[in-house]
Amino acid sequence: MIRPIKIRKRRVLIDIDTQNDLFLASGSACIRNHRRILMNLRRINAWARTKDIRMVSTMLERPGKNGDFFCIAGTDGQKKINYTIRNRRICFEADGYTDISRDMFLYNNQVVLKKRTDNPFEEPRIERLLTEIRADEFVVVGAVAEGAVVATVLGLLQRGKKVVIVADCIGAHDRQKADLALRKMKAKGAVISDTKSIAGVSHLRSTGLCDCKLCRTGARLEKQRTSAIA
Ligand SMILES: [Zn+2]
Repeated sequence: MIRPIKIRKRRVLIDIDTQNDLFLASGSACIRNHRRILMNLRRINAWARTKDIRMVSTMLERPGKNGDFFCIAGTDGQKKINYTIRNRRICFEADGYTDISRDMFLYNNQVVLKKRTDNPFEEPRIERLLTEIRADEFVVVGAVAEGAVVATVLGLLQRGKKVVIVADCIGAHDRQKADLALRKMKAKGAVISDTKSIAGVSHLRSTGLCDCKLCRTGARLEKQRTSAIA
């Protein structure tokens, strides 16, 4: 009997605004449960690298006017958290143009797109890329659920894309609004999943990034456990 050739699913990781201000305790607008979400993000990013999954990252860049207090252009808080950055990447400014290259994923495995607003579809280049990109599945991580995530996901669904939300990799500021946003995305057709189902279990207990007390305590516990096993 001839076994069928399995074609690997073409997935794209949609990485929304994973920036210091939103994910680190020292950031200006840190999400709830940042430690747990950072650990899951680290896991998902490692999984995506291993599977050679291409990554589309959006990155907030606010001008720092009109009461803006996070992800302001040129600040440390605006920078992406380090395990969401790949070596072979191409970056685009939020300049209102729509130019993209058809073969950019041939030479790069990450596209980083800056944007001025939560909704990425307000930026012409991102709108074009997310409309034209073909993949079987768009795996979504990032923040915040009640803002950029819901705007991105609803826009993808409107364009007929299949969206899988890694719920425990999604940060939020307001739990009630985030729950509402999640229900809305689900009602519109998004599949809700989690890190374990997608990337399997991990022995990691530290974020390896944030140095707040909570994250450091977690790292120490991990070290103790590792040495106990060894
Ligand atoms: Zn922390």
